[in-house]
Amino acid sequence: MEKVIIVGGGQTAMNAAMSMRQSDFEGSIVIVGEEETLPYERPPLSKEWLKSDVEPNVPLVCRRDILEDRHITFQGGAVVTSISPEKHQIALSSGQLLDYDALLLSTGGRARPLPIEGAEYANCLRTLADARALRAKLHSQPHVTCIGAGVIGLETAATARELGCEVTVIDPAAQPMSRCLTSEGTAFVENIHRSAGVDLRLGVKPVAIRPDDNALLVTCDDGTSVRTGCVIGGIGIVRNTELASAAGLEVRTGIVVDEYGRTSSPDIYAAGDVAEFYFPPAQKHLIRESWRHAQNHGIAVGAAMVGMAQPYSDLQWFWTDQHGVRIEVGGSLDQIDRTYRRETPKGGFILFHFRRGKFVGYTAANARADGRFAEKLLSTNTTPDPQTLEDMQIPLKTLL
Ligand SMILES: Cc1cc2nc3c(=O)[nH]c(=O)nc-3n(C[C@H](O)[C@H](O)[C@H](O)COP(=O)(O)OP(=O)(O)OC[C@H]3O[C@@H](n4cnc5c(N)ncnc54)[C@H](O)[C@@H]3O)c2cc1C
Repeated sequence: MEKVIIVGGGQTAMNAAMSMRQSDFEGSIVIVGEEETLPYERPPLSKEWLKSDVEPNVPLVCRRDILEDRHITFQGGAVVTSISPEKHQIALSSGQLLDYDALLLSTGGRARPLPIEGAEYANCLRTLADARALRAKLHSQPHVTCIGAGVIGLETAATARELGCEVTVIDPAAQPMSRCLTSEGTAFVENIHRSAGVDLRLGVKPVAIRPDDNALLVTCDDGTSVRTGCVIGGIGIVRNTELASAAGLEVRTGIVVDEYGRTSSPDIYAAGDVAEFYFPPAQKHLIRESWRHAQNHGIAVGAAMVGMAQPYSDLQWFWTDQHGVRIEVGGSLDQIDRTYRRETPKGGFILFHFRRGKFVGYTAANARADGRFAEKLLSTNTTPDPQTLEDMQIPLKTLL
């Protein structure tokens, strides 16, 4: 095999390319990305990047000189418009055709548009360009409204609050971050936002955004409305699967791949946010949208593409920063039936989640060391005695 092409210039792409070189692949690697910028990290875009008075540097995944040193070509500002699996060829919007021996699709996702009247007045936050537009507004508008109480909406709300804005968050769900936390976690998140002065309107559905003098008016299904300077739509992502579908690959919510990242078409792989991957520990396909998954799935699939296949079995892990609290979630939070809480000396806490007597996941708030310990327990498949977990006098490290 001589030629690898990676479609999508994000974090997954860059990690896959590096992993191929790490695995001693000496052929050509070309990353084709729609965005002009070298692959960058998205997490800062909803956090410190928005806060700064002057525009911070772009948080690159990897510097240009390192890419050059590894002979990885980045072709930015280039949209791939079609794939021909038969010819082993992709087409770019410029008309250029590129041949591949192996192809990786790491096309990620785009912000899901708000399904309401006036959606065009809302900002979204996925790319550097989105962050630039939003940063300008957060530094000039006294009031912002986030539609969606998921990670992006809440992180942006927290950032806006720190910048001194009045903030309203609207979500039809009864709890914030209800897709990714247990009820104890969502209650905690609700509390930190309310304590920070965020006007959190849960169980309320926005129905329209309309211009109103020099502002915007968000109206809701309960008859209330919010006059605001900026609306941020944070209702999740749509996976960029269109290329794969048009090429006849199997696609469900994401591009369906096995534990090595192989799609239903020979020599075509997919990884990162766009992939719906078979996860051996759960014996089913999963989707994930997180920084560590983009990194580790990219590394695993990159290696598999050049003959160093290992089944991908990384446990879920993500973090979010809100109002000075770092929340980390590891493992599985599905069908939890018992949770044990442990306080930490510095005012944080960690929740150990159990399913049918087995420790399967955790939620940590300002408890990074304990979180790392919980990860070790999970990775070694260890279920400690719940009583000892709750007893702060017993050091966690003695439980391994
Ligand atoms: C604002 C923000 C904050 C986040 N914060 C956190 C956090 O705190 N913790 C956490 O765990 N995760 C966080 N994440 C999630 C994490 O950043 C993503 O999971 C990760 O970026 C996914 O990487 P990816 O490379 O798979 O996809 P993406 O980052 O979406 O990259 C895909 C790239 O492919 C390009 N592309 C798509 N189609 C084509 C095409 N046809 N031709 C060429 N190029 C194409 C896109 O333009 C894009 O550049 C955050 C995400 C965002 C947006």
